[in-house]
Amino acid sequence: MKKTDTIIIGAGPVGLFAVHQLGIKGLKSIVIDNLDKAGGQCIELYPDKPIYDIPAVPECTGEELTNKLLMQIKPFKTEFFLNERVEEVKQDRNNWIVKTNNNNEFSAPNIIIAGGVGSFEPRKLALKEAEKFEEKSIFYAVRDKEKFKNKNISIFGGGDSALDWALELSKFSKINLIHRRDEFRGAPHTLSEIKKLEKVGKISIKTPCQLESIEGKDKIVSITVKFLDGKTEKIKTDVVLSFFGLIMKLGPIAEWGLNMNKKNYRGEF
Ligand SMILES: Cc1cc2nc3c(=O)[nH]c(=O)nc-3n(C[C@H](O)[C@H](O)[C@H](O)COP(=O)(O)OP(=O)(O)OC[C@H]3O[C@@H](n4cnc5c(N)ncnc54)[C@H](O)[C@@H]3O)c2cc1C
Repeated sequence: MKKTDTIIIGAGPVGLFAVHQLGIKGLKSIVIDNLDKAGGQCIELYPDKPIYDIPAVPECTGEELTNKLLMQIKPFKTEFFLNERVEEVKQDRNNWIVKTNNNNEFSAPNIIIAGGVGSFEPRKLALKEAEKFEEKSIFYAVRDKEKFKNKNISIFGGGDSALDWALELSKFSKINLIHRRDEFRGAPHTLSEIKKLEKVGKISIKTPCQLESIEGKDKIVSITVKFLDGKTEKIKTDVVLSFFGLIMKLGPIAEWGLNMNKKNYRGEF
């Protein structure tokens, strides 16, 4: 059994910054994460997406934020256990005992559960034929924005991800931003930037409408959307990006006897 001062479950931004805060107090940590890399949602779901709301950092991507957090904790020489899912957490007198799916055991007097939303997966397009185009022409996350250069891209969604990506990818591709409502939920400033680009023909906004059909054999050549008034429109499309949010699954965290209120931990066992 491996012993340390603090076991941190989750290598997302919260877990990584916890390493720093503990480190400056002289406490050693180990970090366990079931993903194959540190960074949580930032690295797994939006490594290339710009982030604008980190204090003192006007703009960085999910990957850059992760790298900066890792750089910040470098002096503490933290040991990471990746590809390991914590299955069991229990108390043994003054220590916490943590067991992973690889049958590794860890013990420490302190534990930090920084599991975020647990495991997460994107809510997918409802159209049945969408499945066969997944990871070819239909994507639920942008992992490498180079792949999306010089394309006709149809982006579905009304939240921050749809708006941020519409703005970012419009730098080198033609964008259709498609939403089932007239109002967008994303940041007003981003929306006003998008409206400016709409005026110069770089982004085309289509609302209120939904995906009706997809045309193409191996790859998409066009999509058809249906407006609320019943009219339809065929849109030349190479790539569909869909940002309908995530389905959150807490996974084993829900089984640890924590005092949970919905998906929030209330602070005691
Ligand atoms: C598409 C998208 C865009 C976003 N954009 C922004 C933005 O611009 N600005 C902003 O401030 N926020 C943004 N967010 C939100 C931000 O990413 C989250 O608030 C942040 O990642 C939460 O950090 P965390 O460390 O608490 O959890 P997470 O990042 O969720 O990390 C938790 C980690 O815990 C691990 N884990 C969970 N359960 C276990 C277990 N049992 N065993 C081992 N490991 C486990 C997971 O694998 C994960 O790596 C965005 C989120 C998404 C999805």
